[in-house]
Amino acid sequence: MSNQARSQLFGDLDVTVELDAPIGAMTWFGIGGKADALVHPHTKDALVTLVARCAQSLVPIRVLGKGANLLVDDDGVDGIVLMMDDPIFRELKFNRNGPVHRLHAMAGADLFKTVNELARQGLSGMEQVAGIPGTIGGGLRMNAGGTYGCIGDNVETVQCCSMSGELLSYDASQLEFSYRSTNIPEGIVLSATFTLQPSQPVAVRARVREIFAAKQAAQPMADKSAGCAFRNPNDREGTRVPAGRLIDEAGLKGLTEGGATVSTQHANFITTNPTATASHVRKLMALVQQRVMDHHGIQLEPEVVTWERTGVASE
Ligand SMILES: Cc1cc2nc3c(=O)[nH]c(=O)nc-3n(C[C@H](O)[C@H](O)[C@H](O)COP(=O)(O)OP(=O)(O)OC[C@H]3O[C@@H](n4cnc5c(N)ncnc54)[C@H](O)[C@@H]3O)c2cc1C
Repeated sequence: MSNQARSQLFGDLDVTVELDAPIGAMTWFGIGGKADALVHPHTKDALVTLVARCAQSLVPIRVLGKGANLLVDDDGVDGIVLMMDDPIFRELKFNRNGPVHRLHAMAGADLFKTVNELARQGLSGMEQVAGIPGTIGGGLRMNAGGTYGCIGDNVETVQCCSMSGELLSYDASQLEFSYRSTNIPEGIVLSATFTLQPSQPVAVRARVREIFAAKQAAQPMADKSAGCAFRNPNDREGTRVPAGRLIDEAGLKGLTEGGATVSTQHANFITTNPTATASHVRKLMALVQQRVMDHHGIQLEPEVVTWERTGVASE
C-alpha cells in the first residue's frame, strides 16, 4: 500500500498504525507473517469511517481478536488489520437492576477476564465459556463454546459495523447461534448485551473452576495451538461426530510436519514449536484431512480461520 493510499485511508483518523506489524507472532499459534498495516482505532467513529473507506477503495480489511482461532500465512496479509484493543473497545458495563441483570460488553474485551469479572460480581450466565481464549467479538463470530454451552446462549443484542461502514443492531429474535456458527452478517462486531442471573460469587467461581479444570484435563491448554483444528463433521447417518475421535482412530496422534504436531493429548489440536511455520500447519492439516478421508470416508473442514494475501492491489 502506497503512502498516499495510507494517508487517504486513515491519515486524518484517530488511530494508531503499525506498518509491517508481526501479527502472526501475536496469535496463539505464534507463527505466520506480518500485516501491511495494523490499525488500532481509538474511537468508534474512526473505526466506522475506516471500514467505509476500505469498502470504497476495495482495500481488504480484517479484524484481529486475540488470534486464538487464527493461522496467519507465512507471507502475511495485505490491506488493513483492525485491532480493537483501545480501552473503549474493551469496556464492560453492568446493569444490575431488576431480576434479570445485563452485561454490555465491547467486542475487544477479553473472554477470560470477562468470565472472571462475572464470577467476582456473582453473576451467572457465561461460565460455559470458561477457559476459552479470545475476545467477545471473536467469540461471537465463532460462537465459541463446547460441552457446557456456547457464548450465544445468553445473547440479547449484538451491535455491528457492516463491511460498508453501516451501524447495525440485532436482537435475540433475529440472531441464530449454532455449532461454531452464527447468522451475524459479515462485518465487525462492536459490542453485545448478555442476560445474566444474580448468584453468589462463590457459586459462580466454583462452576468456572470446574469447567476450566475439565478443559485443562482434556486439551493441551499450555501448548501453542488455535484450539480445535477441524469442525466436528456429520457421519453418513447425519450424526455429528468429534473430529478428534476420527483423527485418533486414523492413528494420527503425534503426526508431525516440521514444527507442527497432532497433539497426543487431544487429536483435534495441532500444536506448534518455535521452528514451526504456517506452511507446516497447513501441510499437516491437509495430511490429516487426506488420512481421515482414506480411513473414514469423511471430509474434515477446518475450524481454524486462515488469513492470507488477497493480491488485491491497493495503490
Ligand atoms: C488453547 C485453546 C483452546 C480453545 N478452546 C476452545 C473451545 O473450547 N471452544 C471454542 O469454541 N473455541 C476454542 N478455541 C478457539 C478460540 O478460543 C475461539 O474461536 C475464540 O472465539 C477466538 O476468539 P479471538 O478473539 O481470538 O478471535 P481471532 O482468532 O482473533 O479471530 C477469529 C475470527 O473471528 C474474527 N473476529 C475477531 N474479532 C471479531 C470482531 N470483533 N468482529 C467480527 N469478527 C471478529 C476474525 O476476523 C477471525 O475471522 C480455543 C483456542 C485455543 C488456543
